[in-house]
Amino acid sequence: MNLKSSGGQAYKRPTGVSRRRSLTTKQALATLLAGLTLSLIAGSIELIIDVRSMRGEVQNQTRQMLKLVEATAAEAAFQLNPELAEQVVTGLFSGETVAKVELRDDFGRVMYSLGEVEKVANPLYQRLFGDILSYQQSLEYRVQSGDSGRLVGELELTLALKTLGQHFSQRSLLIFSLSLLKTLGIVLLMVWVFAFLITGPLLRVYNALQTINPEKPGKWNRPHLKYNKGDELDHLVKGLDNLLKAFQSGLDQRDHLHTLSSIDGLTGLANRRHFDTQLEQLWQEALEQQQPVALIFMDIDFFKPFNDNYGHAAGDECLQQVASTMLATVTRPNDLVARYGGEEFVCILPGTDLHGAYKLACRLQENIARLNLPHAYSSCSEWITLSIGVASEIPLPDEIHPDRLLRLADERLYLAKASGRNRIIRQHPQPNPKTASSTQNKESV
Ligand code: GH3
Ligand code: MG
Ligand code: MG
Repeated sequence: MNLKSSGGQAYKRPTGVSRRRSLTTKQALATLLAGLTLSLIAGSIELIIDVRSMRGEVQNQTRQMLKLVEATAAEAAFQLNPELAEQVVTGLFSGETVAKVELRDDFGRVMYSLGEVEKVANPLYQRLFGDILSYQQSLEYRVQSGDSGRLVGELELTLALKTLGQHFSQRSLLIFSLSLLKTLGIVLLMVWVFAFLITGPLLRVYNALQTINPEKPGKWNRPHLKYNKGDELDHLVKGLDNLLKAFQSGLDQRDHLHTLSSIDGLTGLANRRHFDTQLEQLWQEALEQQQPVALIFMDIDFFKPFNDNYGHAAGDECLQQVASTMLATVTRPNDLVARYGGEEFVCILPGTDLHGAYKLACRLQENIARLNLPHAYSSCSEWITLSIGVASEIPLPDEIHPDRLLRLADERLYLAKASGRNRIIRQHPQPNPKTASSTQNKESV
């Protein structure tokens, strides 16, 4: 069953907790067992009291009955009047409740008798009512009122044990049925109260914990336990909330430290460490998917003279402007711009071929040029310029490290420097066939 929580939301039983093992079932069974035991004890006590009062009632009623007919019976015995004796006996005998009635004269002779005493009796009935079945009423006759009575006979009445027993059984059944009904009512009430105040809220806490994002435990969907204010469950939720917030602050600190350890303090770009791990990772992915990875190596031309002449602070500011221009130029979410060291920068472009990487290098060069950062001490321009080496490679089948790609990009940057700076090199110079053959010739000579 999907119980409804106190807030009205449906909640699920935890997976792995079967209905049979659920708290609600255990509590219902325990309450039922306790209720049944109590109802049995209470029913038995009630029955004992009831039997006592039943015995008293039966004795009183029978004695009253005998008292009512005593005078008439005495007259019948005194006059030895069989008709009157028959009337008295028939009046008393009912067949159902009275098993036998007998009127005798003073010599013990039966004047009239009706019914007979049962022989076979239920032992329980016998035990409960056996001693109150038989009643003898001595009959005294007074000729005039005020005379002392003269014993003229005896009236004997025997009650029907079977009827008394059946009456007792019906009363016991009623007592136990009512007791059982009360117990079931209490059990149902207890189960509902338990589910409403304990199991339901507990499951809501469980479900809220299940939906926690492990990266953001502090932002959990804290359950609102409307009817548990100030109780143990409320305290449990508060405790969990504090614990999760403590976790969150630990994670935030970890993330902050991680960010600090992967960011370059001056420019805000990724640092060399982050670049190395990212390149390794992207290279692995490219190896699996057989996709290209491109690198753009960039170095500010004649930065030492810039620094020496304009000062270190101006150098720092220049590095920051160059870095933010690069960040603004490289916009694809999977691309990464990093400060490789000093005045050297690098871009990783996953899934980019040489042509694409070259186009981005051109844009970078243009945007840096647009900054118009004066550099009077550069030998290749009056502004800050970049020398750029570009490479793009698809990893070879068992090439697990990107060393070849790094070397190619670095060599091309070196070539850009060597061939006059402020330029982009994307391929190594092709060997001149003529020179190559003459060299070959020379070497062979
Ligand atoms: P090239 O054209 O061959 O690259 O010559 P270059 O002068 O740019 O290169 P070199 O390696 O000789 O000098 C790099 C200079 O960059 C050295 C240092 O003064 C400067 N530099 C490195 N890191 C920083 C930094 O964080 N801040 C500042 N202001 N300058 C730096
Ligand atoms: Mg350099
Ligand atoms: Mg330089």
